[in-house]
Amino acid sequence: MPVRKLKYTCIVCPQGCEIEVVISDNEIKEIKGFKCIRGKRYVTEEVLAPKRTLITVLHCKNGDYPTVSVKTSKPIPKEKMFEILEYLSKIVLEAPVDIGDIVIRNIFDSGVDIIATRPCRKV
Ligand code: SF4
Repeated sequence: MPVRKLKYTCIVCPQGCEIEVVISDNEIKEIKGFKCIRGKRYVTEEVLAPKRTLITVLHCKNGDYPTVSVKTSKPIPKEKMFEILEYLSKIVLEAPVDIGDIVIRNIFDSGVDIIATRPCRKV
């Protein structure tokens, strides 16, 4: 497998260190440029198992708005994003929904909840 060299800007703190990674056979062979262990951890996860917080909207019936904005309670594996988004696109909530409500618990047995970030009042 070819050797790949990638550059990342660490987003863990405002210093924004430029971190370089050398990858071969799906393994990190070299990593440099980080000023602390948090940056090394961030880039290692970005390379080997990237995660993102998912933010979207769900349909909501009988409410003052037709949708409710939601997000995951913690970042989820990037490769699961589309599968989860497709599942969520078919979900219809029933008003009332309050900000902070867990509208779906432990989605796909991931240990991650889907949480409302805006209320939807019953009308
Ligand atoms: S490597 Fe450490 S110091 Fe540099 S941006 Fe990341 S968290 Fe901040």
